[in-house]
Amino acid sequence: MQLLASYTEGCWHTPTEAQEELRDPIHGTVLAGLNASGLDLHAAYHYARTVGGPALRSLSYAKRAELLQAAVEILKPNRPRYFEIAQKNSGTTEADSAVDIDGGIYTLAWYAHQGKTLTGNTLLLDGSSDSLAKDDSFATQHIRVSSQGLALLINAFNFPSWGLWEKAAAALLSGMPIVVKPASATAWLSYAMLKDVLEADIFPAGAISLVTGRPDGLLDHLEALDLVSFTGSADTAEQLRQHPLIRSGAVRLNAETDSINSAILCPDASVDSIQALAKEVRNELRSKSGQKCTAIRRIFVPTKRLEEVATACCAALAKIVVGDPSHSHVTMGSLASYSQYQTVQQQLASLDSYLEPVFDGRLQLSIQAPAGHACLAPVLYSAAACPHDPRVHDTEVFGPVATLVPYDSVDELSALVRLGGGSLVASLYADTKEQALPLINRLAEQHGRLHIVCPGSKHTGHGNVMPQSLHGGPGRAGGGAELGGLRALHFYHNLCAIQAPADMLAALSQKS
Ligand code: NAP
Repeated sequence: MQLLASYTEGCWHTPTEAQEELRDPIHGTVLAGLNASGLDLHAAYHYARTVGGPALRSLSYAKRAELLQAAVEILKPNRPRYFEIAQKNSGTTEADSAVDIDGGIYTLAWYAHQGKTLTGNTLLLDGSSDSLAKDDSFATQHIRVSSQGLALLINAFNFPSWGLWEKAAAALLSGMPIVVKPASATAWLSYAMLKDVLEADIFPAGAISLVTGRPDGLLDHLEALDLVSFTGSADTAEQLRQHPLIRSGAVRLNAETDSINSAILCPDASVDSIQALAKEVRNELRSKSGQKCTAIRRIFVPTKRLEEVATACCAALAKIVVGDPSHSHVTMGSLASYSQYQTVQQQLASLDSYLEPVFDGRLQLSIQAPAGHACLAPVLYSAAACPHDPRVHDTEVFGPVATLVPYDSVDELSALVRLGGGSLVASLYADTKEQALPLINRLAEQHGRLHIVCPGSKHTGHGNVMPQSLHGGPGRAGGGAELGGLRALHFYHNLCAIQAPADMLAALSQKS
């Protein structure tokens, strides 16, 4: 069995035995093993902070952007190998692997391009200066300065490539050394991509470290002013928040967690909007078998249109072919692991007790995979009998499952969506600006992103996270902020207000 190594203090550390095994979720074959116990995290973090950090910050933003681009050039020719790993380890079809692999490479390339426009090494101006004296001789200017600790990047199992690169791009461009901790279940792809980049010797020593597996005390060796960027479940985020270093505020945490996202058919929307909604519901349940933090979980529909929408969604879902992703006619692969499959099955058993399935892929679709697979066909429920039941709004089934929820007024819609407690994204299906605009203010308060779909207009997809737009959301979604163009760099910089004679501030804006 291949044992995946960790990389710290400029060296690879290969375990002698596996603490955890990665399995193919279609065939059950053991693919690789991991074990991060015994790593000297104290020394690893010290090396990243004292060797990697200064070396990165001695380079300009533009130079670091060039290094990101060099990493892109290393990753691109290896795509076929990454797709093979994703299919085996995550059970994804080629299209779904592309969301993760090409999405990660695109995001890295996008930051490489944006980084070229920045001047200096470690200092970004925030807005313009404001006078603090009647004669304008004394003023204040806000600046953002690269943080000098390390950034610990903890990722979820569903995006071993994109989750890694979207965080790494912003941190490395900011001049922060990174310690990457991929989710164990799918760590193989993160490992393979990072190994290629590390072996190409692009970044200075200590800029990138990799912890493969879950060692004890991952956070214990952090120091004041280090950062943690976490993606995963709300429960794990809560555990991390209880760590003394984070609870005391010494270490800043950015948390991207789970989210009960919505798709909303606007009042008075046309049949074309219903078709657009049904297509997006199918895409979101099919794509990565619904294992996306941004996937549609709740579908809000005016009560009088419920039947029409259910019919359109059922017709769209019936076209999905579930099974072994190595077969070219299969359009939806498996869940990422058997443990994920069992968790989702248990959640479905609970949902079956109070919701009515309107499309039940478990009965209506045949699964084209050998016995013992971790595939699950999509299930669409209706909450017509219990639209206000809190379980409809706070249960995240991390799989191909969504629920139709009827509403009778915009006030009721807003209140129902709000029961999700804050989400990453909602999509609105509207024909005209008159239908969509009244909802924007009400819904923006609860979301990190609103995605508006008009029939016949182009759009990037409800669940696709673009580096140009904010990724994160209030409340239940973790309260974090990633991407959003160069705003992504904010987390890796400290904001400081400089109060000084105006001529000194003018000089500051020329320097870094
Ligand atoms: P998870 O169980 O919370 O794990 C996330 C990461 O945290 C993994 O790397 C895990 O390591 C690590 N971890 C778990 N407990 C830890 C602890 N006590 N100390 C330090 N690290 C710890 O989540 P998951 O099952 O991988 O991912 C699914 C969840 O992520 C879903 O709820 C989904 O909504 C959410 N998600 C959110 C976003 C977003 O951007 N908002 C994106 C993707 C996924 P091990 O794997 O080694 O246990």
